[in-house]
Amino acid sequence: MIDLAGKTAVVTGGSRGIGRAAALTLAAAGARVVVADRSDHRAPAETSTSGEIVRRGGSASSVPLDVTDPDAVSSTFAAIEAEHGIDVLVNNAGVLVSGSLTDTSDEDWHRQMRVNVDGTFYCMRAAVSAMLAAGRPGKVVNVASISGLRANPGFSAYCTSKFAMIGMTRQAGIDYAAHGINVNAVAPGFVETDMTAIYDAPVRRALEGQTPNGRWASPQQIADTILYLSSSLSDHVVGEVVAVDGGWLVATPVQVGA
Ligand code: NAP
Repeated sequence: MIDLAGKTAVVTGGSRGIGRAAALTLAAAGARVVVADRSDHRAPAETSTSGEIVRRGGSASSVPLDVTDPDAVSSTFAAIEAEHGIDVLVNNAGVLVSGSLTDTSDEDWHRQMRVNVDGTFYCMRAAVSAMLAAGRPGKVVNVASISGLRANPGFSAYCTSKFAMIGMTRQAGIDYAAHGINVNAVAPGFVETDMTAIYDAPVRRALEGQTPNGRWASPQQIADTILYLSSSLSDHVVGEVVAVDGGWLVATPVQVGA
C-alpha cells in the first residue's frame, strides 16, 4: 500500500487528462496536491480537479501557472515550498504540435519546445532546488511519451521535445540521486484524452491494431505508474523511463498473410 500522507505533490497541467488522473490518484494516496496550470484555478469547484479532490475528502489547491514563464514558475514554486515544502513534482503539462520537419513553422516549433522542454526544465529546476536547499529527498516524474523513445511519423517537433524530456530525466536522475531525489519518467502510449481527440475513428482503429494488447490506455493507467514513481516503492529507480503503452515499444504486431 502506498501512503503519501504528509507529502506535498505539485502536478502541472492537472486540469484534465493524465494530469487530472495523477492529481486525484496522488491525493487518494494521502498527498496534499497543488494543481498548477492555466485553467484549474478558474474552474468552478464542482468541476475543477482540486475541487474534486476536496469533495473526496483529500487536500488540494489550484494555483495559476503557465509553465513557459520562468519568473512565474520561480515565484509559484517558492510560494508552494514556503507554505508546504515540495516532495513530489509531476511534470505533466504538455501540448502536441503535428507536422513533419518541413511542415513545421518557427512559431509551432518554439511553442512545442516552450511548453514541453522549457516548461519541464523550469519546473524541475525550481522543485529540485527547493528540495536541495531544504535537504529533503523527493520525487520528480516527467510525463514523456513513447514518442520520446521511437520516432512517430508526422510529429517532428513533438518527438524532439519528448526525446529532450527523456534526456533531461536521465541527466537529472544521475545528478541528484545521491541527494535522495529520484527523477524518472513515464512514457505513455496512446491515452484517451483531449490530446488524442485529433485521431478520427479509422486512424484510431489502425493505431489500436498496431498495439500488442489492442487498446489505448485510460488516464488512470498512466496515473498508477506516476503514483509508483512518486512513492518509496521506486526509491532505487533512477533516471528511468517506464513505458505504459500496451506493448507498443516492444513490437508492432504483423499479421502475415492478412
Ligand atoms: P491534455 O488533456 O491536452 O491536457 C494537457 C494539460 O496540460 C492541460 O491541463 C493543460 O492546461 C496543460 N498545459 C498545456 N500547456 C500548459 C502551459 N503552458 N502551462 C501550464 N499547463 C499547460 O493532454 P494529456 O493527454 O493529458 O497529456 C498530458 C501529458 O501526457 C502531456 O505532456 C502529453 O505530451 C503526455 N502524453 C499524452 C499522451 C496521450 O496519448 N494523451 C501520450 C503520451 C504522452 P489547460 O487546461 O490550461 O489547457
